[in-house]
Amino acid sequence: MGDSSIGCKPAVQLDRPQQADLDRCVHCGLCLNACPTYRELGVEMDSPRGRIYQMVQVAAGRLEASDPSYHEHIDLCLACRGCETACPSGVEYGKLVEAARAQIEASRPHSLIERLTRSFVYGRLLVSPRLMRTAGELAWVYQRSGLQKLLRATRVFRLFGDLARLERLMPPAEKPFFFDQIGRTFAPAGERRHRVALVAGCLASVSFSRLNEATIRVLQRNGCQVSLAAGQTCCGALHVHAGLRELARDLARRNIDAFEAGDYDAVVTNAAGCGSTLKEYGELLEGDPSYRERARRFSAQVRDVTEFLASIGLSRGMGALNITATYQDSCHLAHGQRVRLQPRQLLQAVPGLEFRELPLADLCCGSAGVYNVQHTDMSMRLLERKMELVAATGADTIVTANPGCMLQLRAGAALFGRHQRVLHVVEVLDEAYRRRPLPDESAVAD
Ligand code: SF4
Ligand code: SF4
Repeated sequence: MGDSSIGCKPAVQLDRPQQADLDRCVHCGLCLNACPTYRELGVEMDSPRGRIYQMVQVAAGRLEASDPSYHEHIDLCLACRGCETACPSGVEYGKLVEAARAQIEASRPHSLIERLTRSFVYGRLLVSPRLMRTAGELAWVYQRSGLQKLLRATRVFRLFGDLARLERLMPPAEKPFFFDQIGRTFAPAGERRHRVALVAGCLASVSFSRLNEATIRVLQRNGCQVSLAAGQTCCGALHVHAGLRELARDLARRNIDAFEAGDYDAVVTNAAGCGSTLKEYGELLEGDPSYRERARRFSAQVRDVTEFLASIGLSRGMGALNITATYQDSCHLAHGQRVRLQPRQLLQAVPGLEFRELPLADLCCGSAGVYNVQHTDMSMRLLERKMELVAATGADTIVTANPGCMLQLRAGAALFGRHQRVLHVVEVLDEAYRRRPLPDESAVAD
C-alpha cells in the first residue's frame, strides 16, 4: 500500500501531520476567503480550517486516515497554499497536506488497476527519459497527423463527458525533445558573470522544450554559463503531491548527487512547482543522516529563474514588444516560495509592454499539478472565473511562471477566453532580446 505499493520503501514515521504543526492553527477562519475550494463550495470541510480539523481528528484517533470522506476532502484541496499566505498564525498548511496525503496513501486500500497505473506513471514513466520520449512521440503523432484537429472538429469527444475539456489540457509534444541537451554546457553571451545549472524537468523535456531553450538564451544574455547537469532526473514534485514521499526521496537523492558534481552559483528552474519541491529537499530528507545536510545545501542554491534574473539585474538590450500583458501568479511561486514582485519587475522592464495587474492574481487557476485531470469539474469552475478576471483587464497576453499554469491558461483562453496568448515570463524576455540580437550570440537552436 502507499509508497510500498509501487515497490519502494514503506512510509516512515515522519509522513503524517505533526501535532506541533497542527497546534499552530487557532481556528480563526482568516484563511477561508483565500481558499478556492471554500469560495466555490462554501463547505467548511473543504476549507483549510476544516481540513486541519479533520487532520486533528485523525491524529487523536477519532477518525481513520483511510476514511473515504477524509480522503475526499483532502484530495479536493489544490495544495495551492493560498491559505498559508493568509494565515496570521504561521500555519504551514502545505507541509500538513502533503503529510496527510502520505498518511492516507499508506492506509487506504488501492485497487489492482490503481496500483498498476500509479506504479507505471510515478515509478517508471516520469523517471525514465526513454519512456517519456516514447510517450512524447505518440503524442506528437496524434497532434501533428491531423487526428487531433479532426477529432476536435467532429466534436466526438463530447460524447465522452469530460473528455473534450480534458483533451484541451493535453500537453503539447515539442520536437526536438530536450533530453539530448542534458549534460551540455552553454557559454554566456559576452563575459561570464555567473555559473548556473538549469533543471530540465521530466514533462518539460517533452512538452516545454522551447521554453527550456528560451530560458537558456535569456540566461546567456545575462552573462550566465548554463549547465544541464548530467544525471538529473524528475524533481519528485508530482510524487510528493500524490503522497509518494519515499519515491520522491529517491529522486531527491539522485538530483543532489547530480547537481553536487558541479560548482554553480545557483540551481535555476523555470517551473514553480518543481522549484517549491527542490527548495524543500532539506525537509524531505530530514530523516536521512547521509543526505540531510547535503539536501539543505542543495535547497539553499535553488532559485526560480525570475527570482535569479531579478537578483542579478537584467541586462539591457531588449527590443520593444508592443503588447498588453497581465500576470497570473503561480501558487507554488507566490505562496510556496514568496516570489511575487520579481516576475512583475521583469515584465515591467520590457520596452513596449503595457502591464495590467490582474485582480485576485494569486488565486489558483485550477491547474495544480494533475488536479485538473483528477478534479476536472472544480478545476474548470476555477478556470472560468479566472478567465472572466483576465478578460476584464483587456490584456492580449497572459503571462505566468509555471508550465502547468501555462497549459491550464491556454485551455482557459480557448474554452472561456478570447484566445489570448499565454507565455512564460522568460519567453517574453526572450522575444524582447531577440528583437535586438547580439552579433556574436551563441544561442541554442530554435
Ligand atoms: S490555518 Fe491559520 S488562518 Fe486558517 S483557521 Fe488556522 S490559524 Fe486561522
Ligand atoms: S491549499 Fe489551497 S485549496 Fe487547499 S486548503 Fe489551502 S487554500 Fe484551500
